[in-house]
Amino acid sequence: MTAGTFGEAGGGARTAVKVLRSAAAAGATVVLSGHVQPDADALGSTLALAEGLRRQGAHVYATFPGPFTLPESLGWLPGAATLVPSAEVPPHPDVFVSLDASSTGRLGELAALLEGAGTSVVVDHHASNPGFGGVRVIDPHAPATVTLVARLLDGLGVEWDAQLATCLYAGLAADTGSFRFGNTAPATHELAARLLRTGIDHAAISQRLFDTAPFGWLRLLSLVTGRAQLEPAVGAGLVWTWATTAEARDRGLAGDQLEALVDVVRSTQEADVACVLKGQDDGSWAVSMRSRGATDVARVAIALGGGGHRAAAGYTSRVDRDATVAALRRELGATLTSSPAAPAAPAAGLAH
Ligand code: AMP
Ligand code: MN
Ligand code: MN
Repeated sequence: MTAGTFGEAGGGARTAVKVLRSAAAAGATVVLSGHVQPDADALGSTLALAEGLRRQGAHVYATFPGPFTLPESLGWLPGAATLVPSAEVPPHPDVFVSLDASSTGRLGELAALLEGAGTSVVVDHHASNPGFGGVRVIDPHAPATVTLVARLLDGLGVEWDAQLATCLYAGLAADTGSFRFGNTAPATHELAARLLRTGIDHAAISQRLFDTAPFGWLRLLSLVTGRAQLEPAVGAGLVWTWATTAEARDRGLAGDQLEALVDVVRSTQEADVACVLKGQDDGSWAVSMRSRGATDVARVAIALGGGGHRAAAGYTSRVDRDATVAALRRELGATLTSSPAAPAAPAAGLAH
C-alpha cells in the first residue's frame, strides 16, 4: 500500500492490516461490532470485514450493541443472518474491531471489549471521534466507514465479490445520500465504480435503502410533518418535529422507521437546521439534526452530549420534550454567535 492510500488514517491502517492479517492466519478469534442502532454503514462495514476475515481463516463473531434488533430495512444485507447478540460474544477475543462508532458510548456493552481484547482496532470516520482504541483507523474525511473497510480488505488481499460489494455499496450509498452530499469526492465515485463492476444490483440496493417503507410510514410522515415547527429566528433557522416509537408501533411500524423522517424534514428551505426528536421507550429522546450548510451541527451535538458530522449529528436527551427543544434553541444560538464566519459553502459531510 502507498502512504496515501488511507489518507489521515494511514499509520493506523497499516498496523490494522498487520494485526488482522496475522489474526486470520493464526485462526484467531475476532469480534466485530458497529454502533448502537446500527445503520447501513455500521452493518455494511461489520459484515464486509467479518466475511473477508472469515475467508482468510479467522474465527469471527459479528455483532452490535443491544437491543439486538436488526432494522427491518437492513435485514437483507448479505451475511445479516450471521450476526449474533453481544451476549454470545467471547469477552476476551484476540482482536476486537469497532466500526462506525464515534465514541466508546456508542458501543454500549461492547465497549468492555476495548479493554478485554488482546488488541482493539477502531475504524471510523466521525469528525467528533476523540480517538480511542489501541489501533486507530480514523479518517474524518472518509465519506463512510465502508471506504476504510474497503482499503483494509485490499490490504488483507481479500478479493471483492458481489457479496462483499453489496455490503460496502449499501454503506457508501447511505452515508453519501446516494452520492449527493458534500462528502462525495472523486474517489467515492471510483470506489462505487469498482463495486458496480462486481455485478451488484445497485438499483435494488438503493430501492431497499431509500424507497421502501410500509404504508403506515406515510401515515407517520403526515403526523410528523403536521407537527413541524418553523423557528426562523433560532440560529440560522430551525425546523423541528417529533415522534415516538409508541406512535410508530401504533401504525404497525418498528422503531427504526423514525430514522428516515429527518430526510424529509431537512428539505425545509427556510431553516438551516432540521431536527427530529425520536421518543424512545425509556422516555429519552434520540435527537437527529441535519444542517443545510451554515451550521456545524456536530458542535451542537457535542455540546449536548452527542456527536456526528458537520452536517449530520445527534445526541440523546433525558429531559422532557419542551426542555429538550429549549436546550437545542440555546445551543443553536450560541453556536451561531461563536462561529460568525461559518461558511455557507457545501458541508464537508452529511454521513452517518
Ligand atoms: P442520526 O441522526 O441518528 O442518523 O445520526 C446522525 C449522526 O450523528 C451519525 O453520524 C451518528 O453517528 C451521530 N449520532 C447520532 N446520535 C448520536 C449520539 N447519541 N452520540 C454520538 N453521536 C451520535
Ligand atoms: Mn453510522
Ligand atoms: Mn458512517
